[in-house]
Amino acid sequence: MLVVMKRDATKEEIDAVVERIKEFGITPVPLPGAERTAIGTFGSTSRAAAEAVESLPGVAEVVPISRPFKLASREVIGEDTVVRIGDVPVGHGHPLAVIAGPCAVESREVTLETARAVRAAGGAALRGGAFKPRSSPYTFRGMGGEGLEILAEARAVSGLPIVTEVLAPGDVEAVAAVADCLQIGARNMQNYSLLDAVGEQTKPVLLKRGMSATVEELLLSAEYVLARGNRNVILCERGIRTFERYTRNTFDINAIPLLKRLSHLPVLADPSHGTGKWYLVAPIALAAVAAGADGLLVEVHPSPDHALSDGFQSLSFDNFRALMGAVPHVARAVGRTEQVATP
Ligand code: PEP
Ligand code: MN
Repeated sequence: MLVVMKRDATKEEIDAVVERIKEFGITPVPLPGAERTAIGTFGSTSRAAAEAVESLPGVAEVVPISRPFKLASREVIGEDTVVRIGDVPVGHGHPLAVIAGPCAVESREVTLETARAVRAAGGAALRGGAFKPRSSPYTFRGMGGEGLEILAEARAVSGLPIVTEVLAPGDVEAVAAVADCLQIGARNMQNYSLLDAVGEQTKPVLLKRGMSATVEELLLSAEYVLARGNRNVILCERGIRTFERYTRNTFDINAIPLLKRLSHLPVLADPSHGTGKWYLVAPIALAAVAAGADGLLVEVHPSPDHALSDGFQSLSFDNFRALMGAVPHVARAVGRTEQVATP
C-alpha cells in the first residue's frame, strides 16, 4: 500500500505513521516528493495496518499498489527519475544521452581512439566491457582488471564518463571503483545476487532487458536494485529473441513507450544488440528516439571488421557521426529538445 500524506503534513505526523506501520511488523519506506511525502509498504500488508493508519493525523489517503513492481512503478513514484552518469543527467526532460564505444575493451589503442571519436561526435559517455559475458567460452572474454585501467585512462583523455559491465558480485567493488555506471547485461538480468550487490553500492546501474524477459520481469529486476537502496537505475531495451533469424534479436520498440508509461526510470535503447547488423543500427536508433527513449547505447569501433566481439553490429566512426547528425532532426520532429547530452 501507499500511504499518501497531506501536503501540509508535519514531520511528527509522518514519523507517527512510520511507527504505527512498524507495529504491524511491516517495513515502511518513506518516499519524499516535491509535492508531498508518501510512505510505501511492500510485501504482504495487513488490512488492519491500512485501516489503522488511514485515520492518523496528516494522512490524505491509503491506496493499494496494483503492480507487482513497487519502487520502479509510476504508481509509487510519480516524478521522473533523472540518473547522473558522471555529470551527465539521463532522463525525461534532459538532452538525449548517447553512450557509445566498443563492445569490449580489447586494447588500449582501440579504446582511446574510440573515446576521442565518441567525444568529438557529441557522445555523452564511453561504453566498453572489460568483463565480457560470451555465449561461447572459447571467444574473447575481455581484459578484466587491465581493461578497467584502460577505461580510467580513456576517461582522463576524453572527459567522457565510463559505463562498463559487471559480471559477478565479487567484482562489483573493483568495477565500481572505476566505472561511473555499472552495466548489468542481458544474461544477468535475473542474477538476483548480482542485483542485490549493485543495489548495495551507490554508482548508477544500467540494467539491460534479458533476451527472453518480459517487460514486467525487467521491472521486477530493477525492483531488486531499488529495494536495496540504490535508486539510480536506467532501463535498457536491447532486443528479444523471436523466430526471426535475419536479425540477431528483434528490437521491441513497444518496450520504450511502455516502460516510460509504467515506470519513472530513464529508458535507453540499444539498437546494436537489438538488431545485430550495423546497417540496421541507425534506423532503429532513430525509431527509438521517436518512441521516447532517453538515450542510446551504441557499439562503435575504429575498424569493425577487426573487432574482437560484435564487429558486425558496430558502427564505424563515419557511420556514428552520421547517426549523431540525424538524431537532432528526429528529436525535433517529435517535439523533443534537439540537443544531445555532453559531459
Ligand atoms: C554488451 O552491451 O556488449 C552486451 C553484452 O550486451 P547484452 O548484455 O545486451 O547482450
Ligand atoms: Mn556487444
